[in-house]
Amino acid sequence: MADYKVALQDMNFLLDDVFAVAKDWETMPKLREMVDPETAKAILEEAAKLTETLIAPNSRAADEEGIHFADGEVTTPQGYKEQFAELAAGGWVGLTAPEEFGGMGLPKVLSAQYEEMMCAADVSFSLYSGLTVGAIITLDSHANDELKSRYLPNMVAGEWTGSMCLTEPHAGTDLGIIRSKAVPQEDGSYSITGTKIFITGGEHDLTENIIHLVLAKLPDAPAGSRGISLFVVPKFLVNEDGSLGTRNKVVAGSVEHKMGIHASATCVMNFDGAKGWLVGEPNRGLAAMFTMMNYERLGVGIQGLGAASRSYCTALEYARDRRQGRGAKATRDTSAEADPLLVHGDIRRMLLTMKSFIEGGRAFSTYVGQQLDRAKYAESEEERSNAEALVELLTPVAKAFLTDTGFEVTVHGQQILGGHGFVREWGQEQLVRDCRIAQIYEGTNGIQALDLLGRKVAGSSGELLKPLLAEIANFLAEDAGQWEAQYGELAILVQEVERITGEVLGHVKSDENIINSVAVDYLNLIGYVTFGWLWLKMARTAEISNYPANFIKSKQKTAEFYFARVLPRVYGLMPAIEAGSKELFAFTDEEF
Ligand SMILES: Cc1cc2nc3c(=O)[nH]c(=O)nc-3n(C[C@H](O)[C@H](O)[C@H](O)COP(=O)(O)OP(=O)(O)OC[C@H]3O[C@@H](n4cnc5c(N)ncnc54)[C@H](O)[C@@H]3O)c2cc1C
Repeated sequence: MADYKVALQDMNFLLDDVFAVAKDWETMPKLREMVDPETAKAILEEAAKLTETLIAPNSRAADEEGIHFADGEVTTPQGYKEQFAELAAGGWVGLTAPEEFGGMGLPKVLSAQYEEMMCAADVSFSLYSGLTVGAIITLDSHANDELKSRYLPNMVAGEWTGSMCLTEPHAGTDLGIIRSKAVPQEDGSYSITGTKIFITGGEHDLTENIIHLVLAKLPDAPAGSRGISLFVVPKFLVNEDGSLGTRNKVVAGSVEHKMGIHASATCVMNFDGAKGWLVGEPNRGLAAMFTMMNYERLGVGIQGLGAASRSYCTALEYARDRRQGRGAKATRDTSAEADPLLVHGDIRRMLLTMKSFIEGGRAFSTYVGQQLDRAKYAESEEERSNAEALVELLTPVAKAFLTDTGFEVTVHGQQILGGHGFVREWGQEQLVRDCRIAQIYEGTNGIQALDLLGRKVAGSSGELLKPLLAEIANFLAEDAGQWEAQYGELAILVQEVERITGEVLGHVKSDENIINSVAVDYLNLIGYVTFGWLWLKMARTAEISNYPANFIKSKQKTAEFYFARVLPRVYGLMPAIEAGSKELFAFTDEEF
């Protein structure tokens, strides 16, 4: 595996020039106090050092070793304990957490870059702290003060980790049918009983306590998703003075043996009358858990991006070094018996597809991060709710499109190495395996598409889509410079998205299958068009920036490549969406 090299220049370009985030920070009193451009740069440099030199070098060995399970206990691979201790000591777990609990209170737009580095360095390792951050946000948003002060300081400090316990053997996507029970006790706590499966970081040896956030049903709960409550269930009970008390009745029954993320413990968790406390309102647990899931969904999208950017580092280095075959006459290196792979058109096609998805994806996650910050910190109610609406719309796109394109990128990265991509030595096959799960967990990508088209777009009669399309259209109304053709094409595509959305919504009443049948193609259409906008935004910004000529040229040429070779995929998606559900439901069950 080639050394991982963080794309610091690109990250700084996005933060400083494309999205001018420091201007935002100046208008937000809470962030103004916490961060300025110099601090942000220093943090990114430190994060790059940490991930490049400490975490990335151990990722392949950790994957080979995997986790060990015996008698309900998980031992993580060599080096993980020390790595986690370093994260905790550096305050990285509490990067965005509130100051009152010991966090740094930094903006999400910055942590999105850090998360990309962590995922690129080692997806498995990143999950232990990633889920902890999600649990911190959920407790901070929904728990009462007593629970917050009992758990948050140690979680923010990285002394304890968090887990998210939703899935049960018979209930994955459909959480409305979970069976775990929570019975109220006289002391105000609840007795939790049930089995949860696939729980990431449900058990491990990295920290002395694990704080589980668990969905369960109260005895009198209404059926379905309106009858789910959220509980906090610690592995070890916490005494009044904050010290660890007795072991709670929650244990790992087994761990999964899986395709990828071998160093992440995926556990079956048995709750057998475990002591828990209600978080938020009774029966409102799913809504509270969505705080965690929405946060995690951008994080999972970034997992795809991280794996992709690591794969590109190796593929590019390999394509420069490996010599096979001859290029066209003009590119031939006559001093050697063969030319580097980089001379071949097909290798360039794959590398540039990778580059256009990675840099487009980085711009997208940065944009969503900026909207999350505005939704939380902007001064006016109007700004906050505008940003919140964009986040709602874009969260499923970020989760699904960044992981689908991320997976495609890792497969290209494997292909570029030929047989050497299939064997373990170079680490490309690990990235394919590690990236694949990101398309599945945290709500499958199919479910993300339903969320986008069904809940968000159809649910708002198209209103939620309008601000995004308006932002793109406003950008396109400005001077196009040398990009007239691309501006023109994208403007037509924005109109096409509006037209097709109207067409789909027009059929919802007469065709109850339409949303479920076209949602994935629709999400991809939104993804490709949004990336088109971001590529033009980057190309135009690069032209007036002070970055080195190579960087500017590379941005412009990748934008041209994206429009010529990647964006045309939408011309296959649009007729597929318009075809609707007819052919899918022409089949009887027996005809499959
Ligand atoms: C390694 C790993 C780690 C995980 N970590 C966690 C964790 O920490 N905490 C946790 O709670 N869970 C976790 N999960 C569970 C994960 O979130 C679920 O596997 C996922 O949400 C899908 O649920 P399922 O596997 O039961 O599939 P199912 O719900 O059975 O779905 C099967 C297929 O049917 C599709 N489908 C289902 N319903 C519909 C519908 N209405 N319309 C169209 N298509 C539909 C799905 O998209 C999918 O393709 C993890 C899973 C894995 C494998």
